[in-house]
Amino acid sequence: MDIETSPVVAHAWQLFKQNIAINQIIEHPRTMCFAAKFMDQKKVHFYSEFEHGADAMFRAAHALLDEADIVMHYNGDRFDLPRLNTEFILAGHAPPAPYKSIDLLKVVRKNFAFTSNKLAYVSERLGLAGKVKHEGHELWIKCLAGDPKAWAKMRRYNVQDVRLLEEIYEKVRPWINNHPHYGLYTGGGEDCCPNCGGLELIRQGYAHTGMGRFQRYKCRGCGTWSRSSRRDSGVGTIQTK
Ligand SMILES: [Zn+2]
Repeated sequence: MDIETSPVVAHAWQLFKQNIAINQIIEHPRTMCFAAKFMDQKKVHFYSEFEHGADAMFRAAHALLDEADIVMHYNGDRFDLPRLNTEFILAGHAPPAPYKSIDLLKVVRKNFAFTSNKLAYVSERLGLAGKVKHEGHELWIKCLAGDPKAWAKMRRYNVQDVRLLEEIYEKVRPWINNHPHYGLYTGGGEDCCPNCGGLELIRQGYAHTGMGRFQRYKCRGCGTWSRSSRRDSGVGTIQTK
C-alpha cells in the first residue's frame, strides 16, 4: 500500500532556514488518498478524499488493514503506517487487526548500495516500468483545488506506485531476511520456502551455528536461502537462513 499526503500549509517569514512554530500552521497535513492491492488479486483499490470523502477513505483503509496478514510498503514503517494510524485515531477508530510489516525501503537500504534509495531511482535501475511522470508540487496544488484532471493523474500515479512495489518485492524477495514465514499463511505448513511458499527446495550445504549443523536449502522458485530448524538428526521446520 501507498498513501499520498497534503503539505503543511503555514505562515513563513523567509524562504531559507525557517523554523515554523506550531501557531504558524494554517492547515495540518492529511492523507489525500491511498492505493492498495492484495498480492493474489489484480484489483488495485484506490480511495481519495476527492472521490470518496475522508471518512469513507479511512474506513476503507482500516478494513483493508484488518484483512491483511502482511502489509508491504516503501518507507511505510516511518511514514505511511503512522500517518494512517494518526488518521484513524483522529477519526475515532480503534487499531486495525495486527499485521506484519515489510518495508521495502529497509530491505533495499540493508542489502544494496544504490546511489539513491528513492523508489523512482531504484525501480528504474532494476529495469521496472517506473513511476507515472507528473509535474511535481503543481499536481498537489491542483488536487487541493479539486481539479478532476489532476486527481485522475494522482490516481494513476498512486496506483502505479503500488504495482511498482509489487514488482520490486518480486525482485528483492530472496534478499529479505526476516520475511514472515509464507507457509504459515498459505496453510502449506512450514516445510516450504519461507519467502514464497515454494515447495521445491534444493539441499545445498549446511548452516553451522552454536546449536549444531543444519541442512541448508535454496528455493528453486525465488532463490531464497533457508535452513531446517532441526539439527542433522531431529524434527523441526524450515527457517530463513
Ligand atoms: Zn522461494
